[in-house]
Amino acid sequence: LVTRMRAFGTTIFAEMSALAAQTGSINLGQGFPDTDGPAAMLDRAVQAIGAGANQYPPGPGLMELRRAVSDHRAAHYGLDYDPAGEILVTVGATEAVAASVLALCEPGDEVIAFEPYYDSYAASIALAQARLVAVTMRPQAGRFTFDPDELRAAVTPRTRAILVNSPHNPTGTVFTRDELTLIAELCRERGLIAITDEVYEHLTFDGVEHIPLATLPGMRERTIMISSAGKTFSVTGWKTGWICAPPDLVTAVQTVKQFLTFTASAPWQLAVAFGLRHELDWVSALRAGLQDKRDRLMDGLEAAGFSVLRPSGTYFVQTDIRPLGFEDGLELTRRLPELAGVVAIPTQVFYDHAERGRHFVRFAFCKKDEVIDEAASRLKRLS
Ligand code: PMP
Ligand code: GLN
Repeated sequence: LVTRMRAFGTTIFAEMSALAAQTGSINLGQGFPDTDGPAAMLDRAVQAIGAGANQYPPGPGLMELRRAVSDHRAAHYGLDYDPAGEILVTVGATEAVAASVLALCEPGDEVIAFEPYYDSYAASIALAQARLVAVTMRPQAGRFTFDPDELRAAVTPRTRAILVNSPHNPTGTVFTRDELTLIAELCRERGLIAITDEVYEHLTFDGVEHIPLATLPGMRERTIMISSAGKTFSVTGWKTGWICAPPDLVTAVQTVKQFLTFTASAPWQLAVAFGLRHELDWVSALRAGLQDKRDRLMDGLEAAGFSVLRPSGTYFVQTDIRPLGFEDGLELTRRLPELAGVVAIPTQVFYDHAERGRHFVRFAFCKKDEVIDEAASRLKRLS
């Protein structure tokens, strides 16, 4: 294995899901729902296979999906993207991020990301031989946010791009218009490309709405906007995502994507196109249901003695473990199966400055109510 990848080892999600399987613990670690996506959309995938959608789609993706994405962007956000040239279907958001970073960065270039950050960012940046510059988000008035001065100070002449993930995994923060405005100003002033990971775009709570960075003045022309069907339609195993960007950026990303995967699987594309056109009410119900699950898990975690931060979006709750007398989240999560029969994710692995996340642990609430209740009751053993 090349030197630059050695530090990555096995992802925390693989490690913790294996631990859950080995110990028979409840898995509130890896974020995947334990119920299926909309039935008609699942049927559409089966039909697509029966009807022969089984050969290579064109590199940019099937036109049916690109059109559905374009119409959805327009209806939902007032953003116009041309299905021919401004939309590229990818193998999940993961490939979209990797191909974007590989397309933009020369060795030694810098990419800013907010820590704690989704683990594939650091690996994609390392593959490009670029450097991740982490700007730390810290809890302030009940939500994780960043210091504008730290963000400004992170930009150097080598900065090529900024990766913005909102709604943010693993903190649950939905960036406000003020926060996005600051990021947009910096991108415009310093000539940066924004790569926006918006996989949780529809999963926001308490009336908080997701604002795509590309809708801010001057940003559409410099943003690679990334989405995925995985979270929107509870089909994380379908690995179907897409980017929307101006033609020059799409061409750059597609040049790389051609040699990573060439194209994405056909049947899912047709089914996701159907989902975007016909299942948005299902998505609204999912969102309302997830908000209840968030509250349910938060109540359970509080009753078990954790200090809990209220997320405005995503699948995840952050807890501070110090009220329970623990200090190190990695140590606690490795022992949690034995202590309580539950698996969670140590937030510190998503930091460059691990000590800043040492006492945080992430729990996922995208699970059946009875699973959440059982986990909450087991976690009471900790106090
Ligand atoms: N970005 C974030 C923030 C995620 O939480 C995930 C996991 N769904 C991904 C990207 C990867 O998405 P996909 O499964 O579509 O590759
Ligand atoms: N996005 C999911 C999470 O944050 C996990 C994806 C993965 O297993 N790589 O839990």
